[in-house]
Amino acid sequence: MQAIIYDLDDTLYPTHALSRIPFQPFFSHFHHWSSAYITNEQFQEVVKLLWTRPIDEVLRKFPLPLEKIGESLKILQEIQIDASDITATSGVNLIPTFCNNNILVTSGIPALQWAKVRALAVGDYFKEIIVDNPLLPGAGKQPLFARLIKKYHWDPKFIAVVGDNPDTELQAGHNLGMKIIQIKKSGTDKSPLADAYINDFHDLKQVLKQVRLKGR
Ligand SMILES: [Mg+2]
Repeated sequence: MQAIIYDLDDTLYPTHALSRIPFQPFFSHFHHWSSAYITNEQFQEVVKLLWTRPIDEVLRKFPLPLEKIGESLKILQEIQIDASDITATSGVNLIPTFCNNNILVTSGIPALQWAKVRALAVGDYFKEIIVDNPLLPGAGKQPLFARLIKKYHWDPKFIAVVGDNPDTELQAGHNLGMKIIQIKKSGTDKSPLADAYINDFHDLKQVLKQVRLKGR
């Protein structure tokens, strides 16, 4: 493979293994003002979805004013995540052995995504780390992947995308003709787009050999 592009949330670590404690100030702030706009049940739904779905998608679903969301996001930007608050997916330390060009592309609030990268101590594994802020115009994984191919003159046939989300990184990689590897997560269906599936990074070396030979 010329390069492997990894997702962060539910790929390098399972979101269920991220402690909720550092996020308490954010959720208290959010709960306080949002009660004027949404019911308590809807607030609980927002809380649940924020752990599993992209933040922009969740916030669009509810009638919440952007300027209020912005105030809560400022709190989110100040959150510190410690190594003890987050558990990496098994075999993450093998990433440097898979390829010389490992790239991390993650969507989310930049300060928060960087806090996770630091807590996981994976920063050195990647040639490049790109945080895509979904709340800014022009965000999206497909244009980012396309820019990477162009920048490094890579052939998409020899690029693997490793991620969990069928609608974001897996779709983007598929559209660009890359090899798609889905990491299995409880409660998520297998993506029909995927060339292969892994449980954790111990499976990846073998799977990369298989997908390399697979034509499409
Ligand atoms: Mg993900």
